[in-house]
Amino acid sequence: MALDNIPTLNMTARVIFKNQAKMQTRILKINPKNPQISKIRQAAKIIKSGNLVAFPTETVYGLGANALDSKSVKKIFIAKGRPSDNPLIIHISDIADLKMLVDYIPNTAHELINKFWPGPLTLVLKKSKRVPKITTGGINTVAVRMPKNKIAQALIRETGVPIAAPSANVSGRPSPTTSEHVSNDLDGRISMIIDGGKTKIGIESTVIDLSRKTPMLLRPGGVTLEQLQRIIGKIAIHPTIQERKTKSVHRSPGMKYRHYSPNAKIILIEGTEDKVKNKILHLLSQFKKQGKKVGIMTAVNTRYKSNMTVFLGNNLDVIAADLFKTFREFDTKKIDIVLVQGISRKGLGLGIMNRLGKAAYKKIKI
Ligand code: AMP
Ligand code: MG
Repeated sequence: MALDNIPTLNMTARVIFKNQAKMQTRILKINPKNPQISKIRQAAKIIKSGNLVAFPTETVYGLGANALDSKSVKKIFIAKGRPSDNPLIIHISDIADLKMLVDYIPNTAHELINKFWPGPLTLVLKKSKRVPKITTGGINTVAVRMPKNKIAQALIRETGVPIAAPSANVSGRPSPTTSEHVSNDLDGRISMIIDGGKTKIGIESTVIDLSRKTPMLLRPGGVTLEQLQRIIGKIAIHPTIQERKTKSVHRSPGMKYRHYSPNAKIILIEGTEDKVKNKILHLLSQFKKQGKKVGIMTAVNTRYKSNMTVFLGNNLDVIAADLFKTFREFDTKKIDIVLVQGISRKGLGLGIMNRLGKAAYKKIKI
């Protein structure tokens, strides 16, 4: 991937990224329903020796390293071009690992773990001394999750250490939901990519901070806010999710970076169906006059004369599963501008709208 296409990289990251030595990236196909243990062992061996393996989880593909080893974790930041203050999620396969990683487990954590683990829920808690600062981007809390995907579970178990794994994309790009996406971004930068098919959920885990008095939702994702509220009651919502302008500190350091973006410029349009449709028609003709290639993502099956129209449909599970793949397809077709019709923020819709909002170069409310 060309460096020019990565707008989020700062200068230091750009230099490190550019000077990286190329390596041979091996792709290993593993059966997601019944992972072959001999293959899992090959991948585990790579992580144990301090190198990087991309692997599927039920949310998106992760880029894994030994979470307790600073040198290994550093390689993640370099391979992705990820800013060093953006902390990683640690993946575990056993509750005993959580006890080792955190200082204290509050009741709210026990309740959520009983209900949602293994699954797409990440808990932020006070970190223990065992976790190196580099893994948490220098802060004193740590994010932990137990994935449900069988390959991920087997890999963690076989490695015998917790695995730090952010999404396996170049920083700022859409998260990968297939091994091909990983390969497009990271070929030559990591030792191995496990191909375990398309990921199920398609957007990243929900992140909730339980290190404070009132739990706070930091990132909406696979487990919905409504599901969380049913178990633990009151949850504060980080202002960036509510999309109100705020000067407050970024509780989740990753929040300050633009994310998930295809190279095409996304314009997110929210409002009543008729108004949005008219706006899309108007913008479409304007951009076409300027000679732009225009893509459209819409929930309503309307015929637009665009270069590529994707009907989202109204099944939220399907929209989430296909969202990042669609972003990448717009890039493959060299689309310049994508007009996206917003959806309701209920249920999984909150996570989907959060990703669209973060990917957007412009938002229009009518
Ligand atoms: P990724 O796995 O690439 O989707 O990124 C991990 C996400 O988890 C980022 O948004 C981080 O900011 C967030 N995260 C990880 N650790 C922490 C932490 N200790 N406190 C708050 N947010 C965290
Ligand atoms: Mg990510």
